[in-house]
Amino acid sequence: MIIPHHLKDQKVAVLGLGRTGRSVIQSLMKANAHVFAWDDQESVRSAAREQGLPIIDFNAIEWKSIDQLILSPGIPHLYPAPHPLVAQAQTVGLRPVNDLEVLYQSQPQAFYIGITGTNGKSTTTSLIGHILKECGKLVEVGGNLGIPALDLNPLNETGTYVLEVSSYQLETSPSLHFNVGVLLNITPDHLERHGGMEGYIEAKKLIYKNATPKDTLVISVDDPHCLTIYEALKAEGRMKVVPISTCKSLPEGIYVKDGVLYERTQPVLDLKGFSRLKGQHNWQNIAAAYGALRSMGLEGEAIAKGIASFPGLTHRQQVVAVYKNVTFVNDSKATNADATAKALTCYQDSRIYWLLGGRPKEGGITSLKPYFPFIEHAFLYGESAQSFYLTLEGEVPCTICQTLEEATEKASRLALESKKQNAVVLLSPACASFDQFRDFEARGDAFCGYVNAIIHSEQKKAS
Ligand code: ADP
Repeated sequence: MIIPHHLKDQKVAVLGLGRTGRSVIQSLMKANAHVFAWDDQESVRSAAREQGLPIIDFNAIEWKSIDQLILSPGIPHLYPAPHPLVAQAQTVGLRPVNDLEVLYQSQPQAFYIGITGTNGKSTTTSLIGHILKECGKLVEVGGNLGIPALDLNPLNETGTYVLEVSSYQLETSPSLHFNVGVLLNITPDHLERHGGMEGYIEAKKLIYKNATPKDTLVISVDDPHCLTIYEALKAEGRMKVVPISTCKSLPEGIYVKDGVLYERTQPVLDLKGFSRLKGQHNWQNIAAAYGALRSMGLEGEAIAKGIASFPGLTHRQQVVAVYKNVTFVNDSKATNADATAKALTCYQDSRIYWLLGGRPKEGGITSLKPYFPFIEHAFLYGESAQSFYLTLEGEVPCTICQTLEEATEKASRLALESKKQNAVVLLSPACASFDQFRDFEARGDAFCGYVNAIIHSEQKKAS
């Protein structure tokens, strides 16, 4: 646990009592800060009260007497409108911060790597953390991913924090300074939280807000927004900038061509064999990790070894099992058509038994039409079943199911009975999970459970 001694005796208001808020409060109490806690939901407040957390009604709080306001990640401080309590705090000049800011203030001597972008943050963060650990470095991995920042271990000057940072977290961590920053890509997302595309791009640029000439930014040059940023930074020369690409050769940077990674035009690594990091999108993540770690002086060979032993992330094209002719893949994290497109591309040489559905996003799955010829059969479930059926009808054989469980059973049976080689039962829903599950993790875990049960019963039948 991180103990923010700099906040001793300070009056600190913590708004939002989810996992992050609670972690912040534990740390503040250990530091002997005066903590005031609040959450909009009465049920959350009463549970927190029972656990002995210091609940104080923020609607009646004297904001002038508060030294710090710490926000949970989901609470808007700017767009679409500041949370009313945040707006009140701002009138007396309080600037809300998040737990990453507190981490940085508590551990300023450590080395910091920050990863942001629209897609691929978690994969790249985990990959960098994994490689550093394999190289024997002292590392803590967290931020937007997994462990809340203040639950990480103190590293002082001996170690490296590898942090996944969302655009909101960048906006509310004014002093956070990354020795190495990674900007993977920028495509429209979460625009309502940033007042439009321009605001979103400005937020992403905060990854290098405190960079000095000693620091490095690894940045993709494959989308127009990142390319513009790269060109401006190169002209400015305020830090080292390493460009990466998966679609063009870069004499000065790191790029992937025909599945081979090049560093300054020298081929250094064949990426085609890394089955847990399949596809061009993952090659971008690998190139970014490679660039970041090379900038810290790691040898190419050590990085390659780390990539080879990366176990992959759950719920992202995770191979759950291979049984007879069928591979079962959990891509529950694919909550929109763009993410599902990545999985369908990776498996286009297979026979895909596709499980999809849930709460649909704008545009549905019409953008996936080019992939329809690769689909052997689609199994639709959830709120989107009827509308997706209309999109697929006449092009892909479809079965409408009531639940994911039914869809998994039907798809598995059909794939196994077909005895066709290279069959893949792929959960890549292109939808949010909230109509039937708590979140994408619960959906993916349920799928893994169904798959294991099916295989178990097949094995029993066979014995
Ligand atoms: P994030 O943490 O940014 O949401 P993840 O690493 O969890 O990203 O990946 C989520 C999904 O996004 C993956 O299942 C994959 O479909 C897609 N994805 C991963 N990396 C990239 C990338 N570099 N570019 C585009 N899409 C990606």
